[in-house]
Amino acid sequence: MLVDREGLWYRVLVARYGEEGGVLKDGGRRASGWWRDLQRVRDGGGGVDGEWFSSCVSKVLGNGGNSTVDEASNLVWHKNVPLKVSILAWRLLRNRLPTKINLAVRGIMVQDAHLCVSGCGMVETVQHLFVSCPIFRNLWQYVRAWIGVSGVDPFDVVDHFVQFSYLLGHAAKKRSFMQLLWLACVWVLWTERNNRQFNNTENTIYQLFVQVQNHSFWWLKAANVVHELGVHNWFACPLPCLGIG
Ligand SMILES: [Zn+2]
Repeated sequence: MLVDREGLWYRVLVARYGEEGGVLKDGGRRASGWWRDLQRVRDGGGGVDGEWFSSCVSKVLGNGGNSTVDEASNLVWHKNVPLKVSILAWRLLRNRLPTKINLAVRGIMVQDAHLCVSGCGMVETVQHLFVSCPIFRNLWQYVRAWIGVSGVDPFDVVDHFVQFSYLLGHAAKKRSFMQLLWLACVWVLWTERNNRQFNNTENTIYQLFVQVQNHSFWWLKAANVVHELGVHNWFACPLPCLGIG
């Protein structure tokens, strides 16, 4: 912000505080505490040096680190998955879905209406709905059993996505398929949640699992990734259908 001289923010700050010798003025005592702190950071004062921006700020914003969040953010985009599904996952990973607890925090719903739509009696957060709900989490068990892998569900939804994507190992085709399945699962779970909440309809968890099988088949079929064998074999043993089993 302080060094990008073509950027909007720099120009706004020049208009507000003035510029001297190519450097923004600090605004003197009339400037806000926030602005003076920012100046000290830029100038290396206050016990922080020039590294601070790159090592802390860029990490928080996701530009400079290899954190799990960055990894998960990359996994959201998949060439065989509809964009609306990736966007849902993107919002999910940033806790930007209108879950009941998020709405309650913003004062949109009354506090006692924030319970999980499954009837489990717990608060509906993102982590709860997609990972730890004692009802909905069974979907992950069904999918793992279908693929023939075992695993536990990490509590954190970001960790869950990354770990699930690599359950078959790091080979690109295998990771790509697991990534697609995770995206299919969260799409099906969110759709079910909305149907239960707004349409008063309900599927069993096994029916949700079949939806995941169907979505994954048709997404891959549309891209000619699933070659032979047909949908019945897909339901029985998907890995050989993809040539990765
Ligand atoms: Zn629940």
